[in-house]
Amino acid sequence: MKPGLFDFYSKYGWPAHRVLAKRYLTPRCKKCSISARLSPLDIDGICGLCTTPNIDQSGNIIPEEQSMMENRLRTILSEAAGKGDFTYDALVFFSGGKDSSFLLYKLKTDYPKLRLLTITIDNSFMSNTAHENIKQAIGFLGIDHITVSPNPRMYEKLFRYTFTHLSPKGSVYSIDILDGELRTDIGRHLATRYKIPLVIVGLSRGQMLGGSGVVRFEMERQAELAPRKTVTTYDVRELPLSKNETKLWWSGTDTYQDADIPHVIFPLAVWNYDEEYLKQQVVKLGLIPNRNKSPVVTNHTLIPLMAIIDMIKLGYSSWEHECTPMIRAGKADPIYWRNLFEMIEYAAKTGKFIKKPVDDILKRLDLTRTAVGLPD
Ligand SMILES: [Zn+2]
Repeated sequence: MKPGLFDFYSKYGWPAHRVLAKRYLTPRCKKCSISARLSPLDIDGICGLCTTPNIDQSGNIIPEEQSMMENRLRTILSEAAGKGDFTYDALVFFSGGKDSSFLLYKLKTDYPKLRLLTITIDNSFMSNTAHENIKQAIGFLGIDHITVSPNPRMYEKLFRYTFTHLSPKGSVYSIDILDGELRTDIGRHLATRYKIPLVIVGLSRGQMLGGSGVVRFEMERQAELAPRKTVTTYDVRELPLSKNETKLWWSGTDTYQDADIPHVIFPLAVWNYDEEYLKQQVVKLGLIPNRNKSPVVTNHTLIPLMAIIDMIKLGYSSWEHECTPMIRAGKADPIYWRNLFEMIEYAAKTGKFIKKPVDDILKRLDLTRTAVGLPD
């Protein structure tokens, strides 16, 4: 099943299919769709995180704190305009997904004086849909854009290692976060060398919470200056990279002057949009074609393998950590995500739906099912 069909089936086929597939499925919270394995359910089928809002970790904050963050972000973005030594004031990461597309639109519209350079780091596992979206949005908005494509063999080595040395918290922490941190580091090197004072990353509030419930939207100066030693659960020295490849990780004041090191911010963690609203807006504004708006179709091609491994090893999906807080905060649709999680669980237990994309990635990474802990 191709990603587009998977997404379509999750909306129109799965609601009937799930009734027949019940014996394969772990119960999920009726409110936030979290697996009972992550947060036990009461007799009404509601999880502990939903019944005890003070520990819900959803990133819901009081209005005063929200407006303080909005003001601080506005100040950072307004003051950055014209600050770059050369052509640009801000480097913005652009993945072709709905979040970063809308982020670009907002920056371009609300801060017309901010000179933007957008950057895509192509890890060679990006979907064609993402490439298509990037082309359309960049053309539509009229923004300068560069693509950096590090050696695909390097990414294959990295992912082969992480798939066989998975974090106990699951594949998001081993693969997605590592990939994202490497992307950010490559961008920070470029921004520093081009004297671009601001780096803008399109992570959502859910992605920034990291299970802590604390909303952060800017990197602390100390972290910006420090060279990278670890990435998620790995020591960077344990990763199978050559000496030259290792230099892609952030080197901070080991290489650069304090004054040249850019500030890193995450505006979507402040603006905190509703996921369905973002999907509608990017299509309505003409940034992304309607068929290309779902995260299922824009995300990279490693996702099916990651999803299956999580379900087999953990019994739930490691995306639930970032997406159920957004559902509890009323920012994402519980039924949409319930259907996707259930289809992945069903696929993991029956081998249906996503066998081919899983086999394709295993083949490309020169791995077997047994090597990544899947049954044959
Ligand atoms: Zn719940």
